[in-house]
Amino acid sequence: MSPEDVSPKDVNRELRELHELAAKQTALGEIRGAPAADPVNAPMIRHWLAAMGDENPIYLDRGLAPPAMAQVWTMQGPQDRQKDASPVDDLLTALNAAGYTGVVATNCEQTYHRYARIGEVLTPATRFTSLAGPKKTALGEGYFATWTVTWYADGEEPVAEMMFRVLKFRPREKRRPYPLKPAVNQDTAFFWDGVERGELRIQSCADCGALRHPPGPMCPDCRSAARSHVVASGDGVLYSYVVHHHPPVPGRETPFVVAVVELPEGVRIVGNVVDCPPEEVGIGMSLRVTYRSMDDDVILPMWAPRES
Ligand code: ZN
Repeated sequence: MSPEDVSPKDVNRELRELHELAAKQTALGEIRGAPAADPVNAPMIRHWLAAMGDENPIYLDRGLAPPAMAQVWTMQGPQDRQKDASPVDDLLTALNAAGYTGVVATNCEQTYHRYARIGEVLTPATRFTSLAGPKKTALGEGYFATWTVTWYADGEEPVAEMMFRVLKFRPREKRRPYPLKPAVNQDTAFFWDGVERGELRIQSCADCGALRHPPGPMCPDCRSAARSHVVASGDGVLYSYVVHHHPPVPGRETPFVVAVVELPEGVRIVGNVVDCPPEEVGIGMSLRVTYRSMDDDVILPMWAPRES
C-alpha cells in the first residue's frame, strides 16, 4: 500500500492505536528478561578486548568486564527472543504490521554504574519509554521508539544501562519504470523540458506567430521553419474523449479517459483526464492541466476537472 492509498481516517486510527499501545507498554514499567546464559567470564572478555584492540590490562588483571560489554552478556539468539518477550516487541510488531518495516538505530547512550565482575550473572530489564511520530524523515515516514535496558548483577544491583532509540520507517517503494516513455526528439524536446518545469508549452512560428500542436518542423500557415514556443495558461475545455477499457496498457490501470482538450490559446492537445470517474467526464467540462509523475523519470501532463 502506498501512502497515497491511506485515507486520513485510517491514518488517524493507526496513529491513535500505535500511541495507545505505546502508553500501555510504558505503563508496564521495567520487565525483567532471562538471566545471561553464562556468567561474566575471562574468555569472552579476552576475545572482546582482542576484537576492539583494547590493550588495557586492568580488565583481566582485576577480573573486571569492560563496561561497553554490558549488552554482550545477555545478547539473545532468535530462539531465545521468542520465549523472552520484552515490552518493546509488541510495539515493533505493531509498527511492522502498519507498514513501518524499515529500521535504523538513531541513538544509543550507555550509562555505567560500576564494573561487572567475573563470575557475576547479569540480568537485563527493559523499560519502554516513548513513541514519537509519525515524522517525515529522509528515509520515509516513521516513528521513533525509545527504550532503556538496565543490567543487574546477580539480580539486584544495576551495573549499566542503555537508552536505545530506533526509527521504524515505511520504506519508500521503488517505482517500476513507466513503460511508455514519450518520444523526445529535436521537434518535441522543448515540450518535455516545459513539462519538467510545470509549463505547458505550445510551439509557435517565430515568423508569423501561429501556434501549432503537436509540434512539427514547419509552420502550416507561412511555411517558416523558424520556431519558438509560448507557455499556455493551463486551462482547457474537454472537446472530445474516449474511455479506454481494453486492451490492457502497460503501466496503466483501465478504464482511463483519453481526451482531446481545447486550449483557450487555440490549439487542441491529447491527454488523460484524471481525478474524475469516467462516467462523470463530459464534453465541455472545464479542465486544468496537472503534472503526474509516472516513475522516477517520466512526468506526463494530464487534465483534472477545474475546481470552481
Ligand atoms: Zn508561420
